[in-house]
Amino acid sequence: MTEITQPSKSAVAEVPATAAAAAVASTRENRTAAHTHIKGLGLDEHGFAKKNEGGFVGQIEAREACGVIVDLIKSKKMSGKAILLAGAPGTGKTALALATSQELGPKVPFCPIVGSELYSAEVKKTEALMENFRRAIGLRIKETKEVYEGEVTELTPEEAENPLGGYGKTIKHVIIGLKTSKGTKSLKLDPSIYEAIQKEHVAVGDVIYIEANTGSVKRVGRSDAYSTEFDLEAEEYVPLPKGDVHKKKEIVQDITLHDLDVANARPQGGQDILSMMGQLLKPRKTEITEKLRTEVNKVVSKYIDQGVAELVPGVLFIDEVNMLDIECFTFLNKALESEIAPVVILASNRGVTTVRGTDIKSPHGVPPDLIDRLLIIRTLPYNHDESKSIILKRSKVEGLVLAEDALDKLATTSMNTSLRYALQLMSPAAIIAKIDGRSQVESRDIDECLGLFLDAKRSTKVLEDTKGYL
Ligand code: ATP
Repeated sequence: MTEITQPSKSAVAEVPATAAAAAVASTRENRTAAHTHIKGLGLDEHGFAKKNEGGFVGQIEAREACGVIVDLIKSKKMSGKAILLAGAPGTGKTALALATSQELGPKVPFCPIVGSELYSAEVKKTEALMENFRRAIGLRIKETKEVYEGEVTELTPEEAENPLGGYGKTIKHVIIGLKTSKGTKSLKLDPSIYEAIQKEHVAVGDVIYIEANTGSVKRVGRSDAYSTEFDLEAEEYVPLPKGDVHKKKEIVQDITLHDLDVANARPQGGQDILSMMGQLLKPRKTEITEKLRTEVNKVVSKYIDQGVAELVPGVLFIDEVNMLDIECFTFLNKALESEIAPVVILASNRGVTTVRGTDIKSPHGVPPDLIDRLLIIRTLPYNHDESKSIILKRSKVEGLVLAEDALDKLATTSMNTSLRYALQLMSPAAIIAKIDGRSQVESRDIDECLGLFLDAKRSTKVLEDTKGYL
């Protein structure tokens, strides 16, 4: 049975999430597409990593270390600290960060970024960092709504927009009196609405509007479907049940602080012809100011105090942390102290290197004061069997069939180059197999791909051999 929800004053009415915010969220989701097989850290109740669990293969110590981090976060002992995952490319750093966020609970935001992404001509890097911090902080809004049970009729677009010329979207459109040939369906309504319906002498099959806030009822016609299909008598009065009949339902909505910022930001530019033309040429940009964020924070605190909303700190994952410069690190240090900081997980595959914007050499290109705040977890390269298991998992998720020799070849390739490169060869190899009329990928397809696409090492060698010319 379709439920009719009586609209109430929404807790987010002042800060509605927009379609634009949803679009940004889906772009972020695409980033985690390579990790859809990861469902958690795969630890047992004592925190020990099960060999092959949660989609994870191997990387036992790192997974167990992340499990300890999850416990620290849950017991609120991580404030002011951050985590650094250090290891070679393709050793599962992103996967571990994602799994950590999954262990923190359902719908915990996971915001993965790459250090180099912070540099753009349009947005200040610390501004971009702040934006991602807020993307990684969720807000769970709980609302109690009154729900009426009954059949909903189709609304025409005009009716949906403005059903009774002025009541607007607060009106729900229902058919009551569900005495059909298949038996009588019970329709539960608030007693006050029940009274109003009786006053209107509503008959079975009648279409009525109920104004959600005032409960006023208006009879607007007959439902063709009911009068013809079930041959109901127009004069029969509705057998409505008595008593306390409306029920309350908790609606939970998960959004991020950044969604709220975007929803409340005003489009840039004035109404003069030049700025209007500018908006035609490039998508309308929103301007999120510090003042606006403060206002959003105030509304959020109000909802938290009222018990309507709850903060859900998520995970901000910054890959290639060595790409951050000293200004970004200063921002990070300060932001980590904030009361509503997300869990920050950094990743690096660099050794001792210069901190950008300084002459200081430091491990992973991270300045010493931030290093002091870090819990560092090492990720190790995979052996042949582990690589094979990971490749097999991904092939299944991607719906590809690999012959045993192809799987072996990919695992060997992964050992010689990187897991990421080996995984990337799967789809082109499947295309080559398909052109050859096969649904199964064989080792000769992998060989062909190895000839077509270079890995980083071979590409570098070609550059060296040709003195920079490919
Ligand atoms: P980079 O340093 O290049 O960013 P990374 O260390 O973040 O690499 P990932 O992107 O996490 O590596 O791993 C590459 C691919 O292998 C992803 O699809 C990931 O989900 C998968 N993967 C890595 N390690 C494991 C593992 N232990 N179990 C299952 N899948 C894994």
